[in-house]
Amino acid sequence: MHPQFHRRETDGLIYYECDALTTPHLFTTKFGGVSTGYLASLNLGFNRGDVRENVLRNYDILAKHFGVPRGRMTMTKQVHGDCVRVVDRDAVGMGLGQPMRWETDAIVTNLPGVPLCGYYADCVVTLLHDPVSRSIGVCHSGWRGTANGILAKTVRTMQREYGADPADIEAVIGPSIRQCCFETDADVPDAMREAMGPDCEPFVARRGAKYFIDLQGINRMRLEQAGVRTIVDSGLCTKCRHTEFWSHRATHGRRGVQAGILMLEEDHS
Ligand SMILES: [Zn+2]
Repeated sequence: MHPQFHRRETDGLIYYECDALTTPHLFTTKFGGVSTGYLASLNLGFNRGDVRENVLRNYDILAKHFGVPRGRMTMTKQVHGDCVRVVDRDAVGMGLGQPMRWETDAIVTNLPGVPLCGYYADCVVTLLHDPVSRSIGVCHSGWRGTANGILAKTVRTMQREYGADPADIEAVIGPSIRQCCFETDADVPDAMREAMGPDCEPFVARRGAKYFIDLQGINRMRLEQAGVRTIVDSGLCTKCRHTEFWSHRATHGRRGVQAGILMLEEDHS
């Protein structure tokens, strides 16, 4: 684990925080919610077979942690694409405070008091915060999004919409499946090569007929290429630590969903 990462517990909610990110945020674990059975206890997915009321109560716990009404929490709807959407006043609470009307793997905002939620159970969720332009973003990238460069696109959207200078952005790469465990057949490196050319080679290791991909390394490279200088990678592998984190690979899909969430505070200056 990166030394700037810390495991915390508040009122039974167990989560990780990173010193490099100077705005309220967390990466959730399996623990601290009310879901039961194989979804015990902090499942944040509505389509994982959980009781809807329990998922809503889990969001209540997080909303209380951030000090906002549940209906302000704003969700991605992840489709392994490379779309980035702007959360303006009309979009606040998408998926919770109002019906889900978009498909997008990344969202950005400059509105205070609006927690942005990105979801993972092996995939990479990266939290972005620019304290100067006062803007934030959350980006989900599996191997497809990683190859398509959705993280750099999220940074560029913060530049375009809010005037963020990438050099000011704090970027934190959350717990996710790492090269130790992300084993694939040749189809994944082939598709990545097609999307990003030879840039992917340093991040693909071959052992026999299998390949092991370093998604965090590629996402870090994408951030550096976009001009981001403050980058922290958690170092936590969700599959190695499947007793603490939901891991799609470790459970063969019978699992809940956790989230990386961040929010801007009201500006009192
Ligand atoms: Zn691992």
